[in-house]
Amino acid sequence: MGKQGILAVVSGFSGAGKGTLMKELLARYDNYALSVSATTRPPREGEQDGREYFFLSEEEFVQLIDTDQLLEHAIYVNHRYGTPRGYVTEQLQAGRDVILEIDIQGARRVKQQFPEALLLFVSAPSVEELKRRLAGRGSESGEVIQARLERAREEAKGMDGYDYLLINDDLDACVEEMHRIIQAQHARLSQNREFVEHIRKTLGI
Ligand code: ADP
Ligand code: 5GP
Repeated sequence: MGKQGILAVVSGFSGAGKGTLMKELLARYDNYALSVSATTRPPREGEQDGREYFFLSEEEFVQLIDTDQLLEHAIYVNHRYGTPRGYVTEQLQAGRDVILEIDIQGARRVKQQFPEALLLFVSAPSVEELKRRLAGRGSESGEVIQARLERAREEAKGMDGYDYLLINDDLDACVEEMHRIIQAQHARLSQNREFVEHIRKTLGI
């Protein structure tokens, strides 16, 4: 059996640049599998069903919950979001490093089920810059931006549970740092159980 992949959870304030970072990471490196979440929020301009999200009705989403097809799910600013279970387990078993770009409620639930999961928190360099990026994206109303900033206050309280903080100032540098952190996890002892067992057996213990 080959080695399992790393499960990395990426969270952060809305507008911090998570989506942009993920796109860039996947464009540069081969071994990542980005989980596509299900959501009941309407698509933004340019978003495609099955690419950024699976855009579902409330009924379709509830059906996924009821049939236990979601690894975790949460409500974020009035809409539901959830991680399909099948893809994540398949890709991890195939040895690929799986990334979940999900909120802090989801991150907590994933960590309970996968204690080895790596939790990364992405922030903009300042609150002013965060506001600029949120407004600059131009995809949400002022009201939704306010709600998302309000949510950022909650998320700031939950940051302590994360393993690493990534400050997305220079995009290129941030992508490389994220890649280095995830790849370093492959050397963790807990990721190499089979090797450890083999060495012990060979040594007769
Ligand atoms: P999130 O997925 O965290 O909500 P996005 O990836 O949609 O954030 O990014 C929010 C906005 O900030 C977008 O307009 C994006 O182009 C911009 N952005 C992302 N990263 C950077 C960066 N390092 N420097 C400047 N602007 C950025
Ligand atoms: P957005 O609407 O900006 O795409 O995402 C809003 C928030 O929902 C972000 O914090 C994003 O990380 C989070 N999110 C996206 N997919 C999931 C998911 O499957 N589960 C959870 N818990 N949060 C998600």
